[in-house]
Amino acid sequence: MTQTPLIIAFDGPAASGKGTLATVIAADYGLPFLDTGLLYRAVGHLAFHNDVPLHDPAALSELAGEITPELLALDALRGREAGERASQVAAVPEVRAALNAFQTGFANQPAGAVLDGRDIGTVIAPHAHVKIFVTAAPEVRAHRRWLQLSKANPALAPGDVLNDIRIRDARDSGRADAPLEMAADALLLDTSDLGIEAAIAAARSLVKDRSGR
Ligand code: C5P
Repeated sequence: MTQTPLIIAFDGPAASGKGTLATVIAADYGLPFLDTGLLYRAVGHLAFHNDVPLHDPAALSELAGEITPELLALDALRGREAGERASQVAAVPEVRAALNAFQTGFANQPAGAVLDGRDIGTVIAPHAHVKIFVTAAPEVRAHRRWLQLSKANPALAPGDVLNDIRIRDARDSGRADAPLEMAADALLLDTSDLGIEAAIAAARSLVKDRSGR
């Protein structure tokens, strides 16, 4: 008997923990996983290194066609500057449109898929069987991000990371096209007071309840 597909959408602001939770849930259910933020990070990285200006939507959207698996594996995409550049190019509707088909194709694989991002439950997979909106207080998210980033950059000030997070939240939530927002039928998971194990347990329980699987 063939299993019906299972599409699981994780959305939420930067450093909410959605990527970690989505990775665990994908492994639990044996589903392919896509971190959609990496696609925007790749376009931002290419734009910066090729001097493509933010006010040239046509040239920016062409960069989406240059994304390769090797590019997505670059450490540079995981850094602070890459996150900031990603959020700038992500506000350009032509860039979003250029990345849309790949993401919808990924979501609609026969077995289903797990995707994390900002607009998965609202735009990319509005028909997802399970939608979880993962959030946490900005101070908590900034502290988590600082713990990660300060390993490579011990001089990094915690206040600068909080500032980055606030700027990115405002830009991602305030843009006109596919802003960061919780889908009406999403389940809210606030990880502010949860350690990683407790957050995983909470996510597993939400997915099980909503999917019945
Ligand atoms: O999730 P991550 O921090 O890697 O995302 C980087 C940036 O990419 C976000 O701040 C957001 O502007 C953009 N993004 C988006 N839509 C997605 C995923 C990421 O706009 N589905």
